[in-house]
Amino acid sequence: IVAGFKEVREEEKRQLVGNVFSSVASSYDLMNDLMSGGLHRLWKDRLVSMLNPFPGMKHLDVAGGTGDVAFRILETVNSIKRRALQDVLLDELQEETRIYICDINPNMLNVGKERALERGLAGDKSLVWVEGDAEALCFEDRTMDGYTIAFGIRNVTHIEKALAEAYRVLKRGGRFLCLELSHVEIPVFKELYDYYSFSVIPAMGELVAGDRSSYQYLVESIRRFPPQEKFASMIADAGFQKVEYENLVGGVVAIHSGLKI
Ligand code: SAM
Repeated sequence: IVAGFKEVREEEKRQLVGNVFSSVASSYDLMNDLMSGGLHRLWKDRLVSMLNPFPGMKHLDVAGGTGDVAFRILETVNSIKRRALQDVLLDELQEETRIYICDINPNMLNVGKERALERGLAGDKSLVWVEGDAEALCFEDRTMDGYTIAFGIRNVTHIEKALAEAYRVLKRGGRFLCLELSHVEIPVFKELYDYYSFSVIPAMGELVAGDRSSYQYLVESIRRFPPQEKFASMIADAGFQKVEYENLVGGVVAIHSGLKI
């Protein structure tokens, strides 16, 4: 009975996450900017700078529907290529870069594809859009140089399965990076942040996106997500080495990293 109950709860979570992201897809960018005061852009910049992208790399951005992380990686790769072109080093950079953007929700992928179109990147072969589940990736073992997941792992049903899949698809020497809303432990700031999350965010969701419950879900999912140290130990348990994390804005978000050796 307990196992059956667990399955129902898991199915409910899967459906809830699907509904939430279908519902917020159109207002996603605006709400991200409003809720974070635009800071999510800097956090994503930091994530990509820690990745150290390079021309020819094979990269997987999971839960990457909007393309936000993928576009940054591509920009970095292209600027390295431009510099290399000036230095006539291009011969060494001929291998094709591939950035796979994998997301379970086709509506979120459509947001990303539209944004690629607006940026003139619709026909760019480096970007590959894939509908798929973080827990059962449709990629071969040891094929990726890098794996990123931004504001996504909190939503998967079994975090351990997603981490095991990240480990499986990475090559030796490949880097895992996860940007996620995390836990603030600084007194006073924590109280202010709690007030902001529980009162302001759902109200903002209702006012701007006409959707209070999706933003209520967002706040609750942050509370349920494991704290920084616990999540770091889960990454190590998946087989990653040199596991570290960096808190940004006192732990409002954290970037965890690990290396497959
Ligand atoms: N990475 C993007 C960003 O930072 O703007 C989007 C983050 S959005 C908060 C979370 C994304 O996770 C949604 O697009 C959702 O569809 C996706 N997602 C949820 N569960 C997933 C799963 N099991 N596998 C892949 N993507 C998933």
